[in-house]
Amino acid sequence: MPLTHVPTAREQAFLDTVEDARYEREIINGLAPFLNEKAPEDMMTFYSSDEMVQLRVLKGTNRDVETRMPVKVTRHYFELARNSKPMQRLVKASPDETQDLAGSEDPGNQMDYSPVEGLLHKYEMGLMYVVSTCSAHCRFCYREELIARKEIARQDGTVAKKGLAKIPEIVAYIKEHNKEVEAGGGRHPETGREKLREILLSGGDPMVLNNSKIAAWLGALAEAGIESIRIGTKEMAFYPQRFDKTFLDMLDTFHETYPHVGLHFMLHFEHPDEFLMKDDAGNYIKEERGTFKWVPATGDAMRNLVSRGWLTVENQTPIIKDINDDSDALRIMQREIKRIGAENHYFFCGRDIVAYRAFNVPIEKAWQIMNDSQKGLSGVEKHARLSITHYKGKTEVAAVTDKPIPGLPGAEHGVVIFKLLRNPADAPEVGKVCIVGRNPKALWFDDYADRVLFDEAGLFDYARVKTKKHNLEEASKEAV
Ligand code: SF4
Repeated sequence: MPLTHVPTAREQAFLDTVEDARYEREIINGLAPFLNEKAPEDMMTFYSSDEMVQLRVLKGTNRDVETRMPVKVTRHYFELARNSKPMQRLVKASPDETQDLAGSEDPGNQMDYSPVEGLLHKYEMGLMYVVSTCSAHCRFCYREELIARKEIARQDGTVAKKGLAKIPEIVAYIKEHNKEVEAGGGRHPETGREKLREILLSGGDPMVLNNSKIAAWLGALAEAGIESIRIGTKEMAFYPQRFDKTFLDMLDTFHETYPHVGLHFMLHFEHPDEFLMKDDAGNYIKEERGTFKWVPATGDAMRNLVSRGWLTVENQTPIIKDINDDSDALRIMQREIKRIGAENHYFFCGRDIVAYRAFNVPIEKAWQIMNDSQKGLSGVEKHARLSITHYKGKTEVAAVTDKPIPGLPGAEHGVVIFKLLRNPADAPEVGKVCIVGRNPKALWFDDYADRVLFDEAGLFDYARVKTKKHNLEEASKEAV
C-alpha cells in the first residue's frame, strides 16, 4: 500500500497560511516555435537562419540537440540575452554540441547512492529531485539525464528514468535512518553514516513549483528532524520575479514555525550579464557612487532574500567554455555577489556529462581562470574554491604548479594537486590528496590516468575509473 503523509498540527497550521500566485514567465519551450515561426515576432531572430537550417537537419537523428537536452527560455532571460553572447550560449542549442556524444549517462554514478527513488544520500546530506524541469534550460546541464527523461542503468541492473522524490517515502527513510543512527550511538550500523541532517531540494529547479508544494516539503522535512534545508535554484537568473511577496511570506512563516531549521539558497549565476544592466555599447552601467547597477527585478529579489538574516544565500557555478571562461567577468561577478550580501561558494569544473567536450574547459585552465579572477578581490570576496566532482566525492583542484619538481619523475612540467573535500558514507578520506603530472588538455580525471604520481586519496584506484582505464589498456593491447 502506498505510504501517505499526515501533517502534524503545527505543520498544517503553517501550510494553511501559504498563498500561491500566478507567474507570467512567457516560456518558449523547445525549438519548434522557432522552426515553425510560432515564437513571438521579436524572438524569432534569437536563432539565425543558418542555425535554424543546421538544427533542422539534425532533427530525428542521433545528433538531435533536443533529445540530448530540451530547449527552453523565459522572456526575462531572453531580454537580457539579446545583449549577451555568454547568455545566448547558455540557453541556445548549437549544432556543435552533439558532435561528440562521449560522456557518462549518470554523471557521478548518482544512482549508486539512491536508497529511495528521487533521493541521493551522500555524506550527512540528502539531495532530492523534486521536479524534472527548470524555467529555462542550460545547454551544459549536468542533470540532462533527468531533464531529458533518459533511461538510466541502476546498480541492480534495471534500466529506468530517474524518478522524483515523494514526501511520504522520503520522510519514512529519514526517520528510519536517523533512528538507526541514534540506536548505533551516532553512526549507522551498516553504512557508518551519521545522522541525515541536511537536505538539498534540487531537480530541476524547485522554484518552478508553487509555494504550497515547496512549503509542503519544508514542513515535512522540518517535522522529520532535518536541521538544515538548501534550495538549489537558477530561478534568480531565469525569472527573479518568482521571489515575490507570497514566496517571502511563506519563508517568514516557515521560519516563525521552525526557527531551529536553517534555510540556505544555493543560487546559480554563471555570468554578471545575468544580473547587471548594460548600456547600448555593452558596458555595465555604473551608479553615481561607482558601483554596478543591477537589473531591477534581480536586485530587488536578492536584497529581499539577503535582508532575512536567518537564511543564507550563496552562489555556485561551473566554468563553461564560451560562457564564463573569462576571469574579468568572474571577478565582477564575485565582487557584486558579495557586495549585495550573498556568498561565493564553489566554482566547478564541468562534469563528464554526455557531450561534455562541447562545454568543459580544461581543468588546469579553469584553475588558472579562477585564480586570475580572484586577483584584486578582498579576502571576503574570494571564498570560492574550484571543485571537480569525482565519483569518490567532491574534490578541490587545490593547486597547479608550473615548474618541474627536482627529483620527482613525471613532474617535469609541474603537477596538479587534487584534495578530497567530501566523501560519501562516513568520509574516511576527506583531506587526502592526489598528485598528477600536468596535462593542459585534461578535461576529466581519465586524462590523468597515465601520470599519477601520488594518490593517497585513491582517486585513480576507484573501481569506475579503473574500469575505463583498464578498458583503454585492453583495447590498445588488442590493437598491437
Ligand atoms: S538550472 Fe541547473 S538543473 Fe536547470 S537546466 Fe540549468 S544546470 Fe540544469
